[in-house]
Amino acid sequence: MSKVKKKVKVIKIDVDKCNGCRACEVACSAFHASPKYSSNNPARSRIRLIREPLRDVYLPVYAGEYAKAECSGRGKYVIDGKEYSECDFCRASCPSRDVFKEPDSGLPLKCDMCEDDPPQEKPLCVQWCLNDALTYEEREEEVEEEVKMEDVEVGLESMVDKYGLQKIMDTVTRLSKKE
Ligand code: SF4
Ligand code: SF4
Repeated sequence: MSKVKKKVKVIKIDVDKCNGCRACEVACSAFHASPKYSSNNPARSRIRLIREPLRDVYLPVYAGEYAKAECSGRGKYVIDGKEYSECDFCRASCPSRDVFKEPDSGLPLKCDMCEDDPPQEKPLCVQWCLNDALTYEEREEEVEEEVKMEDVEVGLESMVDKYGLQKIMDTVTRLSKKE
């Protein structure tokens, strides 16, 4: 397989600078609302805040991969005297918690780096984080060339988990007859 250059986009998180304002959640959910900017429900945001003001814990985490089953990680981390659970840092949409799931359908939410229409020069959450807790970085990496059906597969896999393969097949058959 030949190598191709791939742009890797990263949001760097400085936990010490986050004040828990939740502007990132508002901006993300508004940008991804349908129609765009018609609502700003944080439950639909692809970045969520672990927020415990009494312990001064503010940890923004943006959504990564869909996980079919919960993992066994139950570790605890103490950083600068504050205790975090392993799940706090996890970016997966997984069965053990409600974050990173579209509230109506339950389908997984994943950060798309705001590449949706119109594509943003910088992710919306980074633009609206006035404390600079979020910064955007790009770098180039050489990777094997491959056909990327990843996102379609993730969506299909989670729908099969939720509704069963037969129901999805029946729906596809019904839709194809309509065309
Ligand atoms: S980059 Fe865009 S999609 Fe990803 S969490 Fe930030 S606002 Fe949401
Ligand atoms: S916008 Fe920035 S400071 Fe506000 S909650 Fe999000 S990451 Fe924290």
